[in-house]
Amino acid sequence: MRRTVLVRTSAVVAALACAWLTYTQNQQPPPIGIQKLKDDLYVIGVTKGVGAGNVAVYVTKEGVILVDDMFDRNHDELLERLKSVTDQPIKYVLNTHQHDDHSGGNAKMLAINAEVISHRNARANMALLKQPGLARLTFSEEMAVYLGGKEVCARHYGRGHTGGDAVMYFPAAKVIHTGDLFLTFPPQPFIDYANGGSALEWTKTLDEVLKVDFDIAIPGHGPMSGRAGILKFRNEFQAMRDRIQGMVHASASKDEISKVLVNDYRWAPAGLAIQQVDAMIDELGGPVR
Ligand SMILES: [Zn+2]
Repeated sequence: MRRTVLVRTSAVVAALACAWLTYTQNQQPPPIGIQKLKDDLYVIGVTKGVGAGNVAVYVTKEGVILVDDMFDRNHDELLERLKSVTDQPIKYVLNTHQHDDHSGGNAKMLAINAEVISHRNARANMALLKQPGLARLTFSEEMAVYLGGKEVCARHYGRGHTGGDAVMYFPAAKVIHTGDLFLTFPPQPFIDYANGGSALEWTKTLDEVLKVDFDIAIPGHGPMSGRAGILKFRNEFQAMRDRIQGMVHASASKDEISKVLVNDYRWAPAGLAIQQVDAMIDELGGPVR
């Protein structure tokens, strides 16, 4: 009896997953808008649904500094939104990490003479994946860009989403861009183990980020937030990780762990994050039965 119910449930879940995939594949690309955060500081991002990562735009009298540059396919629309606030050329693009929804526009940015900067591990990840648009400048701990009397600091606070995550800080505006170390929509984290991500390090990294003097946090995806938003995300991450770690130590199966992540933490059943469960189990306590 129980087995029959389980089989039926799985079939329904599989059918729903297929329907969801078809639904998303048929969607138009999500609309992209621009929002002013502070003087000379804007965010370009999707205004509805899920798509490319948030882009920070810092306008100076000597050119524009961008943090991230979306997918390659978003390039023209990104430039259009930028033109609505300035005619200055893009001089620098700082990558928060190598995923192509954040740094997929690099090759086109290099082609219009913008200098691309990323953490050395993010560049190495991109090179391994044969992703176009490798940064010509890298850093290991921190670096700063000074342009037109303004400053942006890039710093690697540790591993988390990937092994090459950088958080960008606009000190005069007290704003940070966290990349995918922090998300508001959808809020589920993706621990990219293949590219150096770590569930154990992630919260320590966010603890360091929270020591920065900022008011507004631009997440990798989703609406703007602040210190309280990051703290909540961090604490929820720890609660999830601790629970999964407890299950691993109690010899729970991969299937049981996956079900908890999907049902209780809303990880997408066919998403990239759930595909990392083996690596997560390895990190959190070694092999399970
Ligand atoms: Zn990412």
